[in-house]
Amino acid sequence: MIPDVRLATHLQSLDQRIAELDREIGALPKHIAAIERQLDQHLRRMEADRAALSGNQKERKKLEGDIQMQEQKVSKLRDQMLQAKTNDQYRAFQHEIEFCEKEIRKFEDRILDLMAESEALEKNGRAAEAALKLEKEQVEREKKDARERTAADQEQLDEAQAGRRKLVSEMSASVYAAYERIRKKRHGLAVAEVGEGRCLACSMALRPQFLQDVRTSAEVLYCESCGRILYYNPPVAVDEAASGPSVLS
Ligand SMILES: [Zn+2]
Repeated sequence: MIPDVRLATHLQSLDQRIAELDREIGALPKHIAAIERQLDQHLRRMEADRAALSGNQKERKKLEGDIQMQEQKVSKLRDQMLQAKTNDQYRAFQHEIEFCEKEIRKFEDRILDLMAESEALEKNGRAAEAALKLEKEQVEREKKDARERTAADQEQLDEAQAGRRKLVSEMSASVYAAYERIRKKRHGLAVAEVGEGRCLACSMALRPQFLQDVRTSAEVLYCESCGRILYYNPPVAVDEAASGPSVLS
């Protein structure tokens, strides 16, 4: 492989690593924001339940006061009834007492409903509080992990960028310019291997003469279909592989 093509293949794997690190560094804050948003939603739901519980207790207190008022009214009416002069007066008091007693029953029914509701709210509140405590701890853990991961990624990214600058300085300027131009156009892949007579990136079959050129050329050659820099990795011959310091018997 000629040096520029070899450097381009290294550059490509480095660029893929850089893109991967960039993606991860970019995705972590989004993940943290998402779990924080969820925690916030759970927190607000618990606060809404607490507000409902306090509203429930206020209403019960008010109803208890209303019942007391009605009971005082009833006992006053009973006293007055004793002094009724006529049957009509007597019945009028009686009606009023019945009305008050009906009100009292209505308030009592509402209190029973509120008690059942508050029991459910209290139970939910306790469960939510326990779940929130765990969720908060989990979010803190994930934030800490994300910070550590980002720092490690950043370190690797700096290394990769330094490696990239070194590779670029070793490449001829025209090949590097072509690499960048193709990379932008071809979604990050500017270099393609040739295998089974095809460009393995776009699958186009190479003309036999062109295929021969790719194997032997001293110049950088580009796929006639997708424009990528082509390289050819000759298969390692069996006897050549066996002649090395091999453990194969
Ligand atoms: Zn191609």
